[in-house]
Amino acid sequence: MSADEIRPEDAWPLPPAWMWSCQKCAELYRTMKRVQEQTEELRLTGERGIDYDPMDRNVTSQMSLAEHMAAAHLELLPAWDPDCATCKSHRAAIAREAGESDRAAVIARFGNEHRARHAFAPPRAVGLM
Ligand SMILES: [Zn+2]
Ligand SMILES: [Zn+2]
Repeated sequence: MSADEIRPEDAWPLPPAWMWSCQKCAELYRTMKRVQEQTEELRLTGERGIDYDPMDRNVTSQMSLAEHMAAAHLELLPAWDPDCATCKSHRAAIAREAGESDRAAVIARFGNEHRARHAFAPPRAVGLM
């Protein structure tokens, strides 16, 4: 596949420079890309793992990175994207639950993990969660 066949919503953004100065970010990012390349290869060769779903591992590796980023680098996360419907619904949920409850904290964390994904995942994948 040549570069101009990749649609913008499928393009992997270049991760922000600060991620490379964190060993954990760099490690989780490399794992995610490796899993993603393996999934791509399986898709192209038509082979499917029997005991695991490669799409699952893909999502899991993205979630681990987003979880770490939201926990360790809150102040560096990308701003809410005004064009992203998922950002909008997270913001609305956070506004509804404003306060110090456990539920508010969980909702805020989900929102932050979503924002983190904007830094490293293709727009189409980011919109899913
Ligand atoms: Zn980090
Ligand atoms: Zn978003």
